[in-house]
Amino acid sequence: MLSPPQPPADVASMPRAALRQWLTDLGQPPFRADQLFHWLHVAQARDWAQMTDLPAALRATLATVASFPQLSVQVDRKSALDGSRKLALATCHGQSIETVLMAMEAGVTQCLSSQVGCKMGCDFCATARIATRANLTAGEIVEQVAIACRLAVEAGRGRGGVAGGQTGMLAGRPRNLVFMGMGEPLDNLDAVIAALDILCDPKGYAFSPRRVTVSTVGLARWVPKLAAAHPGVNLAWSLTATRDEVRDRLMPVNKGVPIAKMVDALRALPANPHRKITFEYALLHGHNDTGDDARSLGRMALEVGAHINAIPFNAWYGTDYRRPPRAVITQFVRDVQATGATISLRESKGQDIGAACGQLAGERAT
Ligand code: SF4
Repeated sequence: MLSPPQPPADVASMPRAALRQWLTDLGQPPFRADQLFHWLHVAQARDWAQMTDLPAALRATLATVASFPQLSVQVDRKSALDGSRKLALATCHGQSIETVLMAMEAGVTQCLSSQVGCKMGCDFCATARIATRANLTAGEIVEQVAIACRLAVEAGRGRGGVAGGQTGMLAGRPRNLVFMGMGEPLDNLDAVIAALDILCDPKGYAFSPRRVTVSTVGLARWVPKLAAAHPGVNLAWSLTATRDEVRDRLMPVNKGVPIAKMVDALRALPANPHRKITFEYALLHGHNDTGDDARSLGRMALEVGAHINAIPFNAWYGTDYRRPPRAVITQFVRDVQATGATISLRESKGQDIGAACGQLAGERAT
């Protein structure tokens, strides 16, 4: 009986060690893995024919047994307010995701999606309203960064800069990466770990783990696995409420993983002087912005050794949630600081281009 045909192997999702093993199984010497990895992630070849230092016979074989699914740019919006750029990207299955390039003082921070839609169901989040749900592959996560690099090279050309050659392609890469786009990264952890392997590989994108932050809604059971695989990567917890009865309502995941469980998971992490822990706190007027909320947040941050990022809510069409008035925000920050905790106030970037998580992809999906 004939065995069913195998789907092509997704080589763009393979960290270098996995690629080496896969090519060895094809009868290739180990150094071919470094060559193919370079073509995929540094030179960013998008056709087997471009990989000119691979033997023609191997390229012909790869064309039949391997693939590297790509994303295509559907929408590209630039903010007139702060220079941020938001992209809606289509997967090869026609599903829409988004990535945001935020112009910061120290360079560009890219916000990455890890899933199509998100099943965590946070009540204030536009992504949670998107009906389509799927995991992204590691290659699709990495491809978001590749697209950012290509756009930077194109912009450089437009300004008369140097064209992106094989290694120049990464010259304009984002400075920092945050997994805070669509999806819950720890709900797609194997793909996220493989993507981090590729992004932090010195022979790939060579991001320092210190410049990468993975955010979670609080899936405590997966925190040790992420920290074991990438101990230097920063962790952000989307906390947003310090009392379970409030958090249960805002973030239903809290009913299964209450606040104390995630605090325990963070406190149990092996010490690492390079890893930063932050609490992300979306300020929602009338829900979590009182003085008591601020003091409780400050005490929790001190207990875990976390820095607080407070983000006044970026309202989107169809939500009743609102950002607090300026005076309330200012008082909230003061009340946190009075506990001794450190807090930064992060205004949402790209407020004129639908930068709330899931807004743009939601428009494409509906
Ligand atoms: S806030 Fe994050 S975890 Fe919650 S539904 Fe939105 S994307 Fe998912």
